[in-house]
Amino acid sequence: MADYQVPGGLRGYARFSAEKVEALPPEGRLLGEGHLAMTIDRGLDTERYQGVVPLEGESLTEAADTYFRQSEQIPTRVRLAVAEELRAEPGGARHRWRAGGIMLQFLPKSPERARVADLDPGDAPEGTAPHVVQEDDAWVEGQALISTVEDIELIDPSLSSERLVYRLFHEPGVRVFRGIPLCAQCSCSRANVEAMLKSFSQDDRDHMVEGGKISVTCEFCSANYEFAPADVGAKS
Ligand SMILES: [Zn+2]
Repeated sequence: MADYQVPGGLRGYARFSAEKVEALPPEGRLLGEGHLAMTIDRGLDTERYQGVVPLEGESLTEAADTYFRQSEQIPTRVRLAVAEELRAEPGGARHRWRAGGIMLQFLPKSPERARVADLDPGDAPEGTAPHVVQEDDAWVEGQALISTVEDIELIDPSLSSERLVYRLFHEPGVRVFRGIPLCAQCSCSRANVEAMLKSFSQDDRDHMVEGGKISVTCEFCSANYEFAPADVGAKS
């Protein structure tokens, strides 16, 4: 789960079964069954938008491509890479994870060029030939270029994203926009957790009491909130 809040707040967490990962062959498929859901919440007065697609394919990258094809209907290619990084620092090597990615979308100004094929099979009668739209030359070329990106180029700390984009697309031309710095930011608060606890049934609340208190840990930022049972209307 990842949660992005404008202008640059980001929080996320991943959970996995250590036993199942342990049992995987080295090149095993990490992605399980399920769905990829994207929710866009533009504030109090607007309705939430949610797009959901089944998790298909071998990777999160392929699931993202499916999402954009089926839900947004924008031709999109996503590339992601992640690796361990070791840095020599006083007192020994420092280890951390580094991730990088690139997303290519085809967003032509002319509606004629923006046509995409109908989803197959969609609601067409059985036996109908899949609808085919000739891919635009610029999109074909863009996909060919992005497929040449090596994982190392996405995670190399010494290669800036501007340089990578220029390396790939200098021929058609590159325009760079100001970047948005991201920072870790969690929206959890004692008041939110308290309101969430009070929304549970009396019975549920009573069962949450352990050692004379109710303890809640935020999955995103690991902040711990403790309540006396009486604070949230539970029996101690
Ligand atoms: Zn939190």
